[in-house]
Amino acid sequence: MIKALCRVCNQMVPSDQFKLHHTYKQMVCLSCYTGKTQKKKEDDERKIIQEKQKPKGWDQEDEYLNRLSRINKDEIKNQFTKIPGTDHVKCKCTGCKYEFRYDPFHKKPRSCPYCDADIPRMRTFNLL
Ligand SMILES: [Zn+2]
Ligand SMILES: [Zn+2]
Repeated sequence: MIKALCRVCNQMVPSDQFKLHHTYKQMVCLSCYTGKTQKKKEDDERKIIQEKQKPKGWDQEDEYLNRLSRINKDEIKNQFTKIPGTDHVKCKCTGCKYEFRYDPFHKKPRSCPYCDADIPRMRTFNLL
């Protein structure tokens, strides 16, 4: 089979697949004629743009997540305060900031009495 170079996509294509394209004003291969090449080119370009943007976007996201987990850690650390002379702690709800007495050994109450938010698990050995 005779192959010819398509000037649009620079591929060697069987010459019987060439068609005259009215926009390119020349004989092009079937892929170019049906617009596949153009679409592929756009996809490739989009991919390149996405890959270029990725590292920057990821950094921002990492930083955001780091900041978020730092805030969470601080909140959990500050959420429980030991009440001297008792086995109980003072618990501050992270949701509504309501303060209430919490029994970490019996895990009571199970949720914030005010807004019903979950109470994060507390390591009781921190108190002993
Ligand atoms: Zn072509
Ligand atoms: Zn609450």
